[in-house]
Amino acid sequence: MKFLLLYNPVSGRSNFKIHLQEIKELFAKTSHSLEIYESKAAHDLDHVALEESSNYDVFLVAGGDGTLNEVLNGVMRASKKPSLAVLPSGTANDTAAILGINKSIKRSLDIYFNETPVMMDVNQINEQYFLYTAASGLMTRVSYDVSRRHIKKYGYIAYMIAAVKDLSNDYRYPLRVKYGDNQTVSIECAMVLGLSSNRVGGMRLNNFSHSKLNDGLFELRFFKRVKSFWRFRLLSSFIRGGKKLREDLQIASSRFEIETSSNVDWNADGEFSCKGSVVIQTHKEAISVYASRKVKKKCF
Ligand SMILES: [Mg+2]
Repeated sequence: MKFLLLYNPVSGRSNFKIHLQEIKELFAKTSHSLEIYESKAAHDLDHVALEESSNYDVFLVAGGDGTLNEVLNGVMRASKKPSLAVLPSGTANDTAAILGINKSIKRSLDIYFNETPVMMDVNQINEQYFLYTAASGLMTRVSYDVSRRHIKKYGYIAYMIAAVKDLSNDYRYPLRVKYGDNQTVSIECAMVLGLSSNRVGGMRLNNFSHSKLNDGLFELRFFKRVKSFWRFRLLSSFIRGGKKLREDLQIASSRFEIETSSNVDWNADGEFSCKGSVVIQTHKEAISVYASRKVKKKCF
């Protein structure tokens, strides 16, 4: 098979370039071909992925969740889509963890050389495609407000500090949500968290949901802005693995139309996506991805 390695040299703390020789040697022992492209700037990979989609069988994507999201957005606009395979080298690497892929390059390539890919759902918020999360309100800005310099220096701790700082802000915004067969609900929230699995920000939220990665549905949790102790309640939910609190709302649907204030920021796959009202929809089994055997059995 024809592989194209797309890598982001500035993901995470270390330079991915040091692994190129090892990857070339592992490919040399197989009948698969490998070409390599290094990202030149932010969103460069969107364009390269779109242009090169019809020329390869597999895009091997090295970077963090943001890098994979760029490639996804290119591939989703292409008519012939290659499979996606991840080599995690970012800071949180949520997508790779969801797919059961760890940082061992040799073990990951073993999967990509020998296993077959599976069809996975792709979600969309307004114009942007995303794989595993969309969120607004508290904690939403943390993943993209932290500077590259701080991430290089402190890694994951930089995010933790930003999260604690964000807790001092007051979040309260009204939403009108249309979903399913024309059902509507109005709620005032401190945070909205949508997940296609049970992992976000490096945390495993085992009590969030047991949804599948190919069920055609996306699940949104609306954290209600209660009058008192709202930060405490929100944190207590996270500490208990994302357990739903009585006052909160959780909805699974293939399409949400959400009306809200124009100053509300939305995050998709850890990057800033858009502001204000959004349409969130799920395209069932729209992309082919490689996952570990365990994940293929459990999450598909
Ligand atoms: Mg799903």
